[in-house]
Amino acid sequence: MNHPSLPGHAFLAQRVLGAKPSATKEMTRLANQMKREGRDVIALSQGEPDFPTPLHVREAAKAAIDRNESRYTDVAGTLLLREAVMRKFERDNGLRFSPEQIQVGCGAKQLLYNALQATINDGDEVVIPTPAWVSYPEMVLLAGGRPVIVRCGASSGFKLTPQQLEEVITPRTKWLMLNSPSNPSGAVYSQEELAALGEVLLRHPHVWVMADDIYEKIRYEDTAFATPAAVVPELAGRTLTINGVSKAYAMTGWRVGFGAGPVELIRAMNLVQSQSTSHTSSISQAASIAALDGPMDFLPGFVKAFRRRRDRVVEVLRSIEGLSCDLPPGAFYAFPGCQGLLGRRDKLNNLIATDSDLALYLLREAGVAVVQGAAFELPGHFRISYAASDEELEEALRRIAVACAELR
Ligand code: PMP
Ligand code: GLU
Repeated sequence: MNHPSLPGHAFLAQRVLGAKPSATKEMTRLANQMKREGRDVIALSQGEPDFPTPLHVREAAKAAIDRNESRYTDVAGTLLLREAVMRKFERDNGLRFSPEQIQVGCGAKQLLYNALQATINDGDEVVIPTPAWVSYPEMVLLAGGRPVIVRCGASSGFKLTPQQLEEVITPRTKWLMLNSPSNPSGAVYSQEELAALGEVLLRHPHVWVMADDIYEKIRYEDTAFATPAAVVPELAGRTLTINGVSKAYAMTGWRVGFGAGPVELIRAMNLVQSQSTSHTSSISQAASIAALDGPMDFLPGFVKAFRRRRDRVVEVLRSIEGLSCDLPPGAFYAFPGCQGLLGRRDKLNNLIATDSDLALYLLREAGVAVVQGAAFELPGHFRISYAASDEELEEALRRIAVACAELR
């Protein structure tokens, strides 16, 4: 039977109407559409390593296909993969978990989504220091929660201070979402900074921590990686530590992420997953065991290439009048401030009033797709992913410089 047709938006759910599509995906879609129309567009709008997945991981996937590992797996992920995840957390982060404390999902993205779906009641608050990845506030909205945006500008290294955290916690606060290294700023929290935030959290035992460590391996300073559950062990009983293979192993399309935390939370997340995707691909799971347990000798090469690109991107951005840019210590994004260009006009006399106007102008005029800072809840900036080839980056930077110079 047909559903009685409703005009326009009336058919759609309020919670969907209240959320925005992913700006990174949206910009990339626009860029791809322009490419199909024959325009020469360089897409720096989506963060994914441009390197091939390491050979031994690809071989493991082929072997899994040949072994006919083509059946459903446990909802939480195969036991073998969860054991490899346990080894990873112990080896890299000094965190010990049992297999029941681990969930594997379709990318870190699904872990975040499952956790919010499993815990948020209508009106619950989630503290999101920004700039933050575009999907955080929208996932909170889709779960019926209220994102509490705390703006953390360049002056604090784009990082949340203990005072800011103390001020926004209310009896309705459910989670603090922390992402280090951060997308889009590249900011990395030190051990001391996490300890100071931990002190605040210890005074508020109802607040849980979602630690998104997906860029753990993409760091440029020679300091130990810090994650909340390890830095403040008293918080481990209310921390979900999330990571995955997308960024460190150049496996974005394989869709494997994982999270570890208290058993009751993981059980609830498994319930959500059992009623939605069931689990991620069996072949991807087999490949991820090889990734996590295998050699990491390719990683210094990845990081070296990212560092070279970062240095070049920041150098050129700093040379453009109207832009400012800090040197990001992690991830593979530059997040320049563009306030100096706002209020100017393009050749056709269109006003560039906001960072969104500037991003659309760069796409239209320069054929370079970047993402506006507003999408990361810090307007007056834009994000460039430098996980692209040196040639593409050089050409994109040249075009950005020309287009910015043409603004009057
Ligand atoms: N968290 C952050 C901060 C990200 O930038 C991304 C990248 N898409 C993800 C999570 C999700 O990554 P994936 O789902 O590919 O594991
Ligand atoms: N995390 C990447 C980005 O921010 C991938 C795209 C996405 O999932 O948003 O560009």
